[in-house]
Amino acid sequence: MTKEKTGIINSFESFATLDGDGIRFEIFFAGCPLRCVCCHNPEMWEQKGQAYTTTQLLKMIKRYQPYFQQRGGVTWSGGEPLLQAEFLLELGQHLKQEHIHIALDTSGCITNDRVEKVLDLCDLVLLDLKQNTEEKYRQYAKGSLAQTIKFLNLCQQKKKKVWIRTVIIPHINDTLKDIRAFANLVKEYSCIEQYDLLPFHTMGFSKYETYHIPNPLQEEKDLPIEAMEPLKQELKTLLPNVKVE
Ligand code: SF4
Repeated sequence: MTKEKTGIINSFESFATLDGDGIRFEIFFAGCPLRCVCCHNPEMWEQKGQAYTTTQLLKMIKRYQPYFQQRGGVTWSGGEPLLQAEFLLELGQHLKQEHIHIALDTSGCITNDRVEKVLDLCDLVLLDLKQNTEEKYRQYAKGSLAQTIKFLNLCQQKKKKVWIRTVIIPHINDTLKDIRAFANLVKEYSCIEQYDLLPFHTMGFSKYETYHIPNPLQEEKDLPIEAMEPLKQELKTLLPNVKVE
């Protein structure tokens, strides 16, 4: 008998509404190779958590299935779920058998054969676009813009529905010039249905203290909602076929 794979999971949210349409069962996978300065889940950086088998997770998910209705489903988030692509493949195949909608919340930092197979199972990709130049990506996320675009190319090729998400951070990517640069990066992609601009907030700051992790933005304040409006307006003008939220 083949042994079931296990996923290392940090936590769950049973009635999530922010990461994808409808009511969702959200799974936060432990481990992330990036180090975004605005990360509000630094406790998920290390791949430490509880191991769950596909059978155990399916049992939990099916309890909430009646709430999914037409639009909801399961969201794979983290951390970076693609670090556990083998497990996602196994879980995803079972979810598809149950006709459960799958959203993948990712930074797009990995592309390989396994990740491609995982992507084939996903109905929606929530893709972070953290910065608009390679230099800033490396400096503020310890990731790569080129890699993120490579992942976006894969989504386009596979005709996956994509929502792009960018956290607007004071003094780092909060100008109209930044918005124009972001728009320029994504304007040719017909797979993009929505672009969410999210204001930087300090809600996760206490976690840095709890886990004794240096917080590079500790002096910053929440970005006021009013500051977001002109940026959203600019993005709407530049991407007329994309829903800007
Ligand atoms: S990709 Fe997400 S989990 Fe990883 S460091 Fe960035 S914000 Fe945090």
